[in-house]
Amino acid sequence: MDDVDGHDPDDDLADLPGGAPHDRWMRLALDEARAAAAEDEVPVGAIVVAGGRVIASAHNQREQLADPTAHAEMIALTQAAAALGSWRLEQCTLYVTLEPCPMCAGAILQARVPRVVWGAADPKAGAVESLYRLFEDARLNHRVDHVGRVLADECGRILSDFFRGKR
Ligand SMILES: [Zn+2]
Repeated sequence: MDDVDGHDPDDDLADLPGGAPHDRWMRLALDEARAAAAEDEVPVGAIVVAGGRVIASAHNQREQLADPTAHAEMIALTQAAAALGSWRLEQCTLYVTLEPCPMCAGAILQARVPRVVWGAADPKAGAVESLYRLFEDARLNHRVDHVGRVLADECGRILSDFFRGKR
């Protein structure tokens, strides 16, 4: 059955085999998370893939930009929209090392991103399954296919190491 955007969700699921292909892209998001840590930013990284190539690559820059919206996903979505010349990111997959928060999940929905792959769960702010399930909310006019816990240990370890160093 087609969803409200007119695409068949089953097609998307066929694009989500899990395992190695996701690992490969998530490692690039992890590189971004490491770059954030090196800049003393909470280490979360994100990339956007379209047509088999990376069109956006970003990490959290909340401190440097003094901007509460400067999460990795927000910056990556803005870069991807600039690269494509459109706010509609309907051919894109977003990879992010941490389960998106409500703000980022909202932006992903606004951008009509069809697929999100995330790493570590965020029990304190996650809006994909931990606190909310925004990508599956039938009241919204867009659905997002999502796969979680890809390289979760590695994605989580970067965060726990960072916060341990802060104490
Ligand atoms: Zn966020």
